Amino acid sequence: MPIYNAPTRDTRFVVNELIRLESYGNLPGFESATPDMTDAIIEEAGRFVSEVIAPLNLSGDKEGCTRHADGSVTTPTGFKDAYRQYVEGGWGTLSAPEAYGGQGLPHVMGFIMEKYLATANQAFAMYPGLANGAISAIIAKGSPEQQAKYLPKMVTGEWLGTMNLTEPHCGTDLGMIRTRAEPQADGSYAITGTKIFISAGDHDLTENIIHLVLAKTPGAPESSKGISLFIVPKFIVNDDGSLGEKNGVSVGSIEEKMGIHGNATCVMNYDGAKGWMVGEENKGLAAMFIMMNAARLGVGMQGLAQAEVAYQNGLAYALDRRQGRALTGPVDPQAKADPIIVHPDVRRMLMDAKTFIEGMRALCLWGALQVDLSHKAATAEERQMADDLISLLTPVIKGYGTDMGYKVATDMQQVWGGHGYIAENGMDQFVRDARIAMIYEGTNGVQAMDLVGRKLAQNGGRAIQALFALIDAECAEESSDEAVKLVAERLAKANGELKAATMWFMQNAMANPNNLGAGAYAYMTLTGIVSLGLMWLRMAKVAAAAIADGTEDTAFYEAKLTCARHWATRYTTEAGALRRQVEAGGETIMALTPEQLAIA
Ligand SMILES: Cc1cc2nc3c(=O)[nH]c(=O)nc-3n(C[C@H](O)[C@H](O)[C@H](O)COP(=O)(O)OP(=O)(O)OC[C@H]3O[C@@H](n4cnc5c(N)ncnc54)[C@H](O)[C@@H]3O)c2cc1C
Repeated sequence: MPIYNAPTRDTRFVVNELIRLESYGNLPGFESATPDMTDAIIEEAGRFVSEVIAPLNLSGDKEGCTRHADGSVTTPTGFKDAYRQYVEGGWGTLSAPEAYGGQGLPHVMGFIMEKYLATANQAFAMYPGLANGAISAIIAKGSPEQQAKYLPKMVTGEWLGTMNLTEPHCGTDLGMIRTRAEPQADGSYAITGTKIFISAGDHDLTENIIHLVLAKTPGAPESSKGISLFIVPKFIVNDDGSLGEKNGVSVGSIEEKMGIHGNATCVMNYDGAKGWMVGEENKGLAAMFIMMNAARLGVGMQGLAQAEVAYQNGLAYALDRRQGRALTGPVDPQAKADPIIVHPDVRRMLMDAKTFIEGMRALCLWGALQVDLSHKAATAEERQMADDLISLLTPVIKGYGTDMGYKVATDMQQVWGGHGYIAENGMDQFVRDARIAMIYEGTNGVQAMDLVGRKLAQNGGRAIQALFALIDAECAEESSDEAVKLVAERLAKANGELKAATMWFMQNAMANPNNLGAGAYAYMTLTGIVSLGLMWLRMAKVAAAAIADGTEDTAFYEAKLTCARHWATRYTTEAGALRRQVEAGGETIMALTPEQLAIA
C-alpha cells in the first residue's frame, strides 16, 4: 500500500516565511489569515486528507466508477462517505466568498486544500475541483438570480458542477462545437448535443449537479465568436430552491481510460435539456476562460501533487531496498548490501524530484497569492502587476508543472526498478494519473502557444518585461551567502537566455509564424525553469537568513540551500539549449511533406 504524508512543514514554510501571508493583513480576507489560523488549517487539512482521502486512492483506481442499467453512475466504495465528511468539515468553503457561505480566506488557503486532496487522491479531488471552476464562472458572469439560486449550495458542496466543452470532433478548436441552444418562450433554452470526456459528469456524491455547457444559439457565427455558456442542472431547481423534475441530460457511457479511474469521465447526452444562459450571447468563451484559468492553475498543481506522492514512495523504497554497495565503500558492512539510496544515480532522481516539488509548491502558492492580489491589493498598480504576472505564468504553471510532474512520477517508478512496473505496488498509478494533466484543460502544446502567441505580446509585452525586471532586481541584491550568490548568478544567466529567446521571437515570428509555433514548447520550458529559479533564489535567501539568525531547525534550512544549489547547477544547464531550440526556428520542423514523413 503506497504511503501518503501531507507536507505540512514545507507548506507552513511557504505560507509563513516565503510569501508571508501575514504581511497582507490589511487586505480584505487576509485579516483572519494569521499564522496561528493558517497553521491550524494546514495541519488539520493534512490530517483529514491522510486519514480519510488517501486510503481510497488505490482501491478507487482498481474499482473505478460504474454506470448502471438505469443510467445512474456510482463512484468507488468509500468516496461517498469521504465526500460527506469533506462537506461537513467545510473544506470546500475555505476561499469561497462569504456572501455565498464561504469563509472568505485568501485563495492560497483553498489552493493548499486542493493540492493536498490531489496528492492524496487525484480522482477524488477532481469532483470538487471541477465545481470550483463552475463556481468562479457563475460568480463572474452569472445574473444575481443565478448566483442566488446556485452558488450557496455549490459553495457548501451540497451540489457539484462540471465543465462541458469537448465534443467528438472538437477539443482544442471550440469554434466548431455543434451543441445547439434553442430559445424557449419562458426565457430558457433547449440544449441538444453530445459532449465527451466530461469529468465528474455524473456520480452519487451529491443530489444535484450543475453542468456548465457551451452551445450555439441559432444563427450564431460559425467560430469561437458564436459560443454561449449555459447552466444546465441535472435536476431543475424550483424557485424555492427545492429540486424539481429530472432534466433532459443523461450519461451515454463512462470512458475507459488510462488513469484517474475513480473519476467518472462521461459521454453526456443533452436532449432538449433546459438551460439558462450565463452572461451575454456569443460571449461564452470569455466566461469559460474564467473557469479555465482557475482550472489551469489547479491542473498545474496536479502535476506537483502526483510528483509529491510518487516522491514520498520513491524515497521510502530507496531507504529500504538493498542492492549493491556504495561507490565509496560499504555503508552497512553487516548487511549483504547497502540501501539503494547510496547510489548517486538514485540520488539524482530523488534530488531532481525534491528540487522540483519544493520549487513548484512555492511557485503555485505564490501564484495563488497573485490571484488574490490581482483583486485585493491596495493600489491599482499592484493589482495590475499581480494580474500581469499570473496571466503570464498560468500556462507555464500548467504546462511545465505537469510535464515535470509526469517526469518525476516516472523517475520515482524507476527508483522502484521492476517493482515499480508491478501494479500491486501502486507506482504505476502515479504515472497513469499524472499523464492526463498534460492533456486536459488545453494540452501542454496549446499552453505553450497561449504563452507565446497571446501572453507575451499582450499590452506591448508588459508582463514579461515585469518578470525580467523582478528577476534582475532580486538577482542583483547583495548577499554574503555562497549558495544565494550561486543561485543569483545562475538565475541571472538563465533569465538572459529567456530574454534572448524573447527577442528572437520578436525579430522572427512576424516573418514566419511557424517560427513562433516551433519554438513555443522550448520557450515554455525555459520560462518554467526560470520561474522555479526565482522561487529557489527567494527560498535560499530565507534559509540563509534563518541559519544566520541561529535557527534550531538547521536540517530543514540547510536542505533548502542544498536544493537551491541543485537547481542552480543542474536545472539551469538546459537553459542555453532551450534558447538554441527556439532560435532553430521552424524550418526543419515544417519542411517534410506528409509523404516524406511517412517513409519508413
Ligand atoms: C480524462 C479526461 C478528462 C477530461 N475532462 C474534460 C472536462 O471535464 N470537460 C471538457 O470539456 N473536456 C474534458 N476533457 C477534454 C480535454 O480537455 C481535451 O481532450 C483536450 O483539450 C484536447 O482536445 P482533443 O482531445 O480534442 O485534442 P485535439 O484538439 O484534437 O488535439 C490533438 C493534438 O493537436 C494539438 N493541437 C491542436 N490544436 C492545436 C493548435 N492550435 N496549436 C498547436 N497544437 C494544436 C494538440 O496539442 C494535441 O497534441 C477531458 C479529457 C480527458 C482525456
